[in-house]
Amino acid sequence: MTTQQFNAVYGPVTSWRYGRSLGLDPIGKVSTCSFNCVYCQLGAIEHHTAQRDIYVPTEKIISDLQHFAPWDVDVITLSGSGEPTLAANLGEILDQVKALTQRPTLVLTNATLFNDPQVRQALLKADKISAKLDTVTPRGLKGINRPVMGITYDTLTRGLLQLRQEYSGELGIQTMILRPWPDHEIDEYLRFIQRLSPDVIHLNTPTRPKPRQRQFDGRGNHSDADNRAYSVQHLTCVEPDVLSKIAQAISQQAQIPVKWVSH
Ligand code: SF4
Repeated sequence: MTTQQFNAVYGPVTSWRYGRSLGLDPIGKVSTCSFNCVYCQLGAIEHHTAQRDIYVPTEKIISDLQHFAPWDVDVITLSGSGEPTLAANLGEILDQVKALTQRPTLVLTNATLFNDPQVRQALLKADKISAKLDTVTPRGLKGINRPVMGITYDTLTRGLLQLRQEYSGELGIQTMILRPWPDHEIDEYLRFIQRLSPDVIHLNTPTRPKPRQRQFDGRGNHSDADNRAYSVQHLTCVEPDVLSKIAQAISQQAQIPVKWVSH
């Protein structure tokens, strides 16, 4: 693990999905997540857990954020060094960030804790949520996202549907495509998202290399860093026509706006 001093705010970074974004990290020095995705930009997750806790005090986040005034960004994004809904102070952070900056807030999440009413209550304070859904099969979940014990495809999708019933802000679904999907998986995906009815879908493929070990750089955009001082693994991207085929099916059959990464 790196020994550099921890700063809970990073960026701004430019996101193809949400514009110019300032990142907030409520997780801290040790990467912590209920998933350990094969493509994770943080490297291998160091603390694999679904246990909520206060990982970074709200005062530390707000104090670091004050240095970035006047926050000339499109959005302030909670993501950082793992899964932000694991932060038990998530609701308090969202309240105080909004009071200080008056900027839109976004939570990037893997959706695994949405069955917890306290998590959903905190998320209601976010202007936007972008939730991960990389697969429509239990096998895909185990192979791609590698969740902690107790998180299944069934609990994940039930939690997403429950959140959608309660949340009136902008709900996005982010889907990482690692290989061409057979037609029956595209059909299953369409069935689920029609039930869920998100506001937007973002299709991605792993264009950024995966650090072999934990790097703070992974919180932002590190793809252009030719001179990076750490070892990375390049992952196989699908061809643009694979994304385009799924995107067309989504917009034509589910009539949900969809954007996909170009590479
Ligand atoms: S959910 Fe995000 S932080 Fe967690 S392992 Fe996957 S990519 Fe990494």
